[in-house]
Amino acid sequence: MLSTTQAFKANAAKALKDKNLQTAMARLEQNFPARRRAAVAGLPEFDALRDEAIGIKNHVLQHLDLYLERFEARVKERGGHVHWCATPAQARETILSICRAQNAKSVTKGKSMVSEEIGLNDFLAEHGIEPVETDLGEYIIQLACEPPSHIIGPAVHKTKEQVTDLFHEHHRKYGFSEKQTDPEALVNEARVILRKKYFEAGVGITGANFLIAETGSTVIVTNEGNGDLTQSLPKVHVVVTSIEKVVPTLEDCATILRVLARSATGQEMSVYTTFSTGPKRPEDIDGPEEFHVVLLDNGRSDMVGTALHELLRCIRCGACMNHCPVYQAVGGHAYGWVYPGPIGAALDPHFLGVEAAQHLPNASTFCGRCAEVCPMKIPLPDIMRHWREVAHERKVTPPLQRAGIEAWAWLAKRPALYRLATRLAVWALRAGGKKRGRFNSLPLAGGWTQVRDFPAPQGGTFHRQWRERRG
Ligand code: SF4
Repeated sequence: MLSTTQAFKANAAKALKDKNLQTAMARLEQNFPARRRAAVAGLPEFDALRDEAIGIKNHVLQHLDLYLERFEARVKERGGHVHWCATPAQARETILSICRAQNAKSVTKGKSMVSEEIGLNDFLAEHGIEPVETDLGEYIIQLACEPPSHIIGPAVHKTKEQVTDLFHEHHRKYGFSEKQTDPEALVNEARVILRKKYFEAGVGITGANFLIAETGSTVIVTNEGNGDLTQSLPKVHVVVTSIEKVVPTLEDCATILRVLARSATGQEMSVYTTFSTGPKRPEDIDGPEEFHVVLLDNGRSDMVGTALHELLRCIRCGACMNHCPVYQAVGGHAYGWVYPGPIGAALDPHFLGVEAAQHLPNASTFCGRCAEVCPMKIPLPDIMRHWREVAHERKVTPPLQRAGIEAWAWLAKRPALYRLATRLAVWALRAGGKKRGRFNSLPLAGGWTQVRDFPAPQGGTFHRQWRERRG
């Protein structure tokens, strides 16, 4: 599998022929969207809650500096540390120095997309520290040496049979010689292996779904409880997260949690919602002795007030990708970077540059389902359109495509000529497709006709129908 965003077309073509992937993606379609629909139907005030959550995020984004400083002050009051990191390199170095101060040989990790964004696992491994993923999905893909393919279900692209083979291959060295096929037995094997790793780890690293300014708490939601063990068993807890996760109060967090779980997995609430506030106090029976929050910017503050501003409301629920026909067809790896699906198509060009990620904003049918289901009502298609414009202006798109768009734009600004041209085109297509009612090859439309027929036009043109309907 090619793994860069430039390789999207090749990755997608390969993904469409991958039988295992197609089986797994068909299951996803019947799974997350159906559960979300039921959860939303069961909460009549869902839309009002959504608007409330959006209001909270919009307010925070207008006062981001204030709430981040308040969060930092509260963390320090509780004996924790906040590390401001402008770049992924700074975040990696900061975490490495915390691990080295502990002489850590291994770290346990809860699921964190920001840690993927900064390439933390490879970096720690290069410096002799073993990263151990403890979320089951992350654990599976770590064994398979693959990146996550979904922001809440990292191994959603794997079938049960593939996981069975993977565990059989890797768990033999831990004494599990029998090949298990029952999901419960497979989970149990992973649990037994990971238990030991929790106690060996010098540092536990988690992400954060929210940072609460009024208390200095960090919040994670999980369904496995692995986050709790990751952060409470080692001597040091590191939270690696990004600046837009801050919310003013505990109450605000509770409001957004209600839309997050329903949008992500269709649950009313995730099984575990864990609040961490500073290191262990003298009266606590357990908990970490040190508490560090690594706060990554990585260009996020540059998004404030721009066409990308609304992306900062994203709560990484994954609903947009669960409902995207392109993501459902090709899976997450085809996108070639950390954030796949519609949120990736809107976000990745910012992180990687539009030159590197130009295919992603084009990997959309613009059906609008992503924006419709997004709990934060982020106008993802508008942002993808913005990136298409940027790619056009910077001459990143192929010359022929640019010339075609410019010719169309020229024509579209001259209505009489446009009508004449479309009439002629429709007449020619009708005449050419009269016999079969469709075309299996057309000049300039080879990308379409090599995989499907192009239907010959039928009925009146859009303009004619529009005139008739308006009377
Ligand atoms: S863009 Fe919206 S739907 Fe997609 S992950 Fe973010 S919050 Fe969820």
